[in-house]
Amino acid sequence: MKRRQVLAAGAACCASLLARSAGAQAMHYAAPERFGRPDIASDEGGLWALMDREEKGLRRSPLVLRDEKLKNYVQDIACRLGSEHCPDIRVYLVRTPLFNASMAPNGMMQVWTGLLLRMENEAQLAAVLGHEIGHYLQRHSVERLRDIRSKSAFGQVLSLFGLIGAVGQIAVAASAYAYGREHEHEADRIGAVLMHRAGYDVAEAAKVWNNLLKEVRAREGKEPEQTAPLFASHPAPPERRDILGQIAAAMPGGSRGDDAYRRHVAAHLDEWLQDEVKRGQYAESLALISRQIGSGFAPGLMSYYRGEVYRLRAEPGDQDLALADYRLAAQMPDPPAVAFRGIGLICRQQGQNGEAVQGFRRYLELAPAAPDAAFIQSYLAELGS
Ligand SMILES: [Zn+2]
Repeated sequence: MKRRQVLAAGAACCASLLARSAGAQAMHYAAPERFGRPDIASDEGGLWALMDREEKGLRRSPLVLRDEKLKNYVQDIACRLGSEHCPDIRVYLVRTPLFNASMAPNGMMQVWTGLLLRMENEAQLAAVLGHEIGHYLQRHSVERLRDIRSKSAFGQVLSLFGLIGAVGQIAVAASAYAYGREHEHEADRIGAVLMHRAGYDVAEAAKVWNNLLKEVRAREGKEPEQTAPLFASHPAPPERRDILGQIAAAMPGGSRGDDAYRRHVAAHLDEWLQDEVKRGQYAESLALISRQIGSGFAPGLMSYYRGEVYRLRAEPGDQDLALADYRLAAQMPDPPAVAFRGIGLICRQQGQNGEAVQGFRRYLELAPAAPDAAFIQSYLAELGS
């Protein structure tokens, strides 16, 4: 047996054991009392001071979303999960197109927009927030701090929460998972209990993990462990999904909050999808957007942006795939105007002049003040219309 298979077999055995015990103990969790500010001379006090400084910088960062309504929505979810710790949790939404959330020991919680784009409903968001609150309640970062000796490892602990602006690397997103295996399992379990107590469907927690795994696997020819360090150093995704599934079975019921979630993020979706497409990780974007179309989330806008991914990737056959998606978007109840422009541009190039004219006309009807309106008019003139 290859080493890899041996490891897999070992993991499967332990996973089922862990899953059983996880399911059984899942319901019992007593949160600690609210934390006071630690003595500045202590190691924990030093960590708080550093995080306070990070937070000061974060407050001024142009990357922080200034949408009070959306921020309050996420803050309310965190408060329902954190219960008596609510006054200590301060949510910041950060415009960065990667899957990441963290909560520092001083109460600063960051939620990145790449994560918000990947959630299908409120329960999934609650699963991630509950997990981070789990790390916070158990003070895992302080334990981690005391575990380590070297300065570079200390840097790793800091990197769990800081990193404003240091983006573009998947390793950065992975930092959210840089706790040890036992800490991750414990945070998963506590997160599930908090979700259940707040009235959410715990089964959505396993879906978050599974969805992320599918997306990373979409990168051709690579095992997820090679492209995303978070999969290498932490509980294997199938193991984690199975344990979360077991926990959910012990805590049935609860709501998903599809509509509430989609309503609250609707105004930002266009911007977040633009950010996602600009990453240039086409396989991942296709997996993500196709999944959201399948879940019925803003299918018009999502279909248009999937078309954009094909157009930008520009491999053989991609132009036709892009056109098919623009047409799909155009038939949805919420078609973005730009889908019709997309149809016009590709049909004009392919000599399908009738459909090109129709597309351009519809675009100008829906977006008469578009900055490229004059440009589109000139195409219409050229097409004799
Ligand atoms: Zn974690």
